[in-house]
Amino acid sequence: MAPRILTLANQKGGVGKTTTAINLATALAAIGEKVLIVDLDPQGNASTGLGIDRVNREVSSFDVLMGESTIAGAAVMTSVPNVAIVPSTLDLLGVEHAIGQEGDRAFRLRDAFRAASGFLIDGRPVTYVLIDCPPSLNLLTINALVAASAVLVPMQCEFFALEGLSQLLQTIEHIRSTLNPGLSIQGVVMTMFDKRNNLSEQVLQDVRSEMGQLVYDTVIPRNVRLSEAPSYGKPALLYDLKCAGSQAYLRLATEVIRRERQLVAA
Ligand code: ATP
Ligand code: MG
Repeated sequence: MAPRILTLANQKGGVGKTTTAINLATALAAIGEKVLIVDLDPQGNASTGLGIDRVNREVSSFDVLMGESTIAGAAVMTSVPNVAIVPSTLDLLGVEHAIGQEGDRAFRLRDAFRAASGFLIDGRPVTYVLIDCPPSLNLLTINALVAASAVLVPMQCEFFALEGLSQLLQTIEHIRSTLNPGLSIQGVVMTMFDKRNNLSEQVLQDVRSEMGQLVYDTVIPRNVRLSEAPSYGKPALLYDLKCAGSQAYLRLATEVIRRERQLVAA
């Protein structure tokens, strides 16, 4: 069985893509999945947040895009049980320059996954891949969308949440109609919800009326533990399992799995 590949994309910065990648991966692993994160952001926040120091990133997602490494050759285990990562380096900033003129530039990551035979975590094949994208609809995000089975869109509960969404949806639709017909939208996850702030509730209602069933029931609260954890190189689920943020990501993981089963069955 090929793994399900979920791409976390939103060209808006700071909406919770990386926090969701790290904690959703950990939550999925906690309920029995074998999870590989691919860090496609030159900022490398997913790699740092999982405790992979820059000096230890000998082989990276850049090497995979260049065809110089397989996925298995670039993946390293993290300290989180059943979670591995293909780390990123600043080399990713040069990807456009390096392959922007190549005919297969949009297919590099997909082809690496097609070629990937047998990256094992604890002797078992990877069941979920989560791809963390940069805040841009650039060639890196395009590679992630072309490689994906489905997209997961984190949106921050703030006034401009819906701004830019139509551009993202257009990009997804364009990729579906050209490069990756199998691409679907897994869902929209609302992040940094502040129950003391009326605006958060208003934005949530607006997004639900715009996006309907695509919005997950689970809403990720604004929670300081989620923002503290990366400085310890840990997911919040390992830093403070009981905090509201960790508990929300566990609920999100069960929702994601339920939707994946529906998507696969459809
Ligand atoms: P970028 O576009 O720069 O890659 P991003 O979309 O990956 O950003 P994150 O890095 O996950 O967003 O989050 C942005 C900031 O908000 C970080 O400092 C993170 O710790 C914090 N943050 C994310 N989610 C929450 C939350 N639910 N509660 C509190 N802080 C959060
Ligand atoms: Mg990020």
